[in-house]
Amino acid sequence: MSYALIVSEVRRGVFEERNLDSIGLGALLGKEMVLLAPDGAYEINEKLVDAVVKVKSAEDVYLNPMNMGRILEQVFGARGKPDYILFTQSSSGTEAAAYAAGLYGFPVITDVSAYDKEAGVFLKSYYSDKVFGQFKASGGPAVLTVRSGSFREFAGEKAAAAKAETMEGVPAVDSRTFVDYVEEEKSDIDITKAEFLLSIGRGIGNQDEVASYEELAGVLRAVLSGSRPVIDKLWLPKARQVGTSGKTVKPKVYLAMGISGAFQHIAGMKDSDCIIAVNKDAEAPIFQYAHYGIIGDIHKVRDKLKEIAKG
Ligand SMILES: Cc1cc2nc3c(=O)[nH]c(=O)nc-3n(C[C@H](O)[C@H](O)[C@H](O)COP(=O)(O)OP(=O)(O)OC[C@H]3O[C@@H](n4cnc5c(N)ncnc54)[C@H](O)[C@@H]3O)c2cc1C
Repeated sequence: MSYALIVSEVRRGVFEERNLDSIGLGALLGKEMVLLAPDGAYEINEKLVDAVVKVKSAEDVYLNPMNMGRILEQVFGARGKPDYILFTQSSSGTEAAAYAAGLYGFPVITDVSAYDKEAGVFLKSYYSDKVFGQFKASGGPAVLTVRSGSFREFAGEKAAAAKAETMEGVPAVDSRTFVDYVEEEKSDIDITKAEFLLSIGRGIGNQDEVASYEELAGVLRAVLSGSRPVIDKLWLPKARQVGTSGKTVKPKVYLAMGISGAFQHIAGMKDSDCIIAVNKDAEAPIFQYAHYGIIGDIHKVRDKLKEIAKG
């Protein structure tokens, strides 16, 4: 049978919104859509797919890639192999996809963000979307991980609700056991909500300088954030990191001091309304993105700004 298997992600009892992107891509692929989900009481819009198969396994068992390998075997036994197996582009989605592809020797394309139906080509990002790779899959069900936010507009309701089925669970493997979730350290400040961010980079020199930039942020009524080295050195808490492995921010003003402008940083702040950069190196890449720039020593600029702001 020709179908697309959507391996949905249910975490802490919530049907993750990013599943809608897998369903949207499934709709573009034009196949019958079979949605796989763990047992549990949560809401699924059953009009979005053709069949929902609930596996009688707890969420943490289902999310384990080794168990997923055996769940897939059961699905193949009952329905035959699909044409596509779609996972979410998340930490558990990507590991389960990689494991399943390795187990069965299926082709895998991760972080799919667009699909050209006519050419049968999937697009995958490199270098924070600076370059995209075009991929075709051949020789087996293609395992895809789907980027969140890329396809949800294609998920449309069908006339009838999906056929609901249940499938026996698999015994949990004990080579990797889920223990518990650890909450992210609570932060009093959410940098994604700030209107004015003063962001400091390695250029500040050392930890002793942080307090003076915190003071500057105070007088400017800005919130202090930083580049990754500043967080890695523990000068600021992780919740203050801007960039691909930190937060994406879009303040009205982003004042970058002593930040070079590596693409991992730029990806997290390039959509700010007004970017001001201060750097002693006129060739620093941050100036390519800045609306205003000051080529000079950040400490001198800091002191001058404090002087002006204090009147
Ligand atoms: C997988 C991965 C994920 C990453 N994620 C992130 C991320 O989320 N966020 C992030 O920021 N980075 C991230 N990085 C790191 C990134 O590649 C850069 O190394 C980092 O952004 C550089 O930080 P920086 O600009 O503070 O330091 P540097 O690149 O060292 O730049 C310091 C700048 O300060 C200037 N400077 C020095 N002294 C002065 C002075 N007295 N006056 C004026 N200017 C001065 C220098 O000219 C220089 O341009 C990631 C890297 C990897 C591999």
